[in-house]
Amino acid sequence: MIPCAYFMNIFKVARSIWIGMGITLKYFLNHKKTLCTIQYPREKDLIPARHRGIHYLETEKCVLCWKCSDICPVDCIYIEGVRGVDGPLQGGYRGQKATLSKFTVDYTVCIFCGLCEEPCPPKCIWLGPEFDYHSTDRTMMEKNLLSDEVYTESDEVFVEWARGENERLQEEKKKQKEAEKAAKAAEKAAAVAVAEETPAEAAEETTEEASAEAAEENPEVEGDAAE
Ligand code: SF4
Ligand code: SF4
Repeated sequence: MIPCAYFMNIFKVARSIWIGMGITLKYFLNHKKTLCTIQYPREKDLIPARHRGIHYLETEKCVLCWKCSDICPVDCIYIEGVRGVDGPLQGGYRGQKATLSKFTVDYTVCIFCGLCEEPCPPKCIWLGPEFDYHSTDRTMMEKNLLSDEVYTESDEVFVEWARGENERLQEEKKKQKEAEKAAKAAEKAAAVAVAEETPAEAAEETTEEASAEAAEENPEVEGDAAE
């Protein structure tokens, strides 16, 4: 004898298929009203105001403090440059307080947590509404925030050159400072020496002047002394 549970199972399966197909049919017939997907990239959905997408950098405001890269939990921000406006510029970017040669984010690693926005003193790095950053090659997933383009091999060539150039400029600056310091010290020493010599010379001059005056006033005394 076939158990009743056997037919109950068949009935349940048929019923769930019927319900599922009914829902599909409902959406199929009313697809214009019940649309829940869009034909991306031909159609684009509205992005919420607080969406955290790819980064933007207001380069001219950056002070090169590395706070954003220090706080990043996955270490995917790479920054190079010099503070001040005397770094090499070709291919880089000179801001008000720093000269940047590299500022990139690796999107194969970034988790879009937004932490990098928080500690930035001039609030110049932020996650914008753009989310479409795709590639078939993972080497193209690093974005150069200085140019808003993919970070390329030619960018890397520039960064390597700028690294050497920055070191050379820093070395020159250091030597110049040392020379200025030495010149100041020498100037100070000369001033002290002059100040030390001046009282003795003044005393000598005063004595000579006093003798001359005395001789003028008493010529006899001088004559006697000569005899
Ligand atoms: S969003 Fe988060 S993971 Fe991405 S760069 Fe900023 S701190 Fe790093
Ligand atoms: S925290 Fe802001 S100012 Fe500092 S390096 Fe990052 S972007 Fe530049």
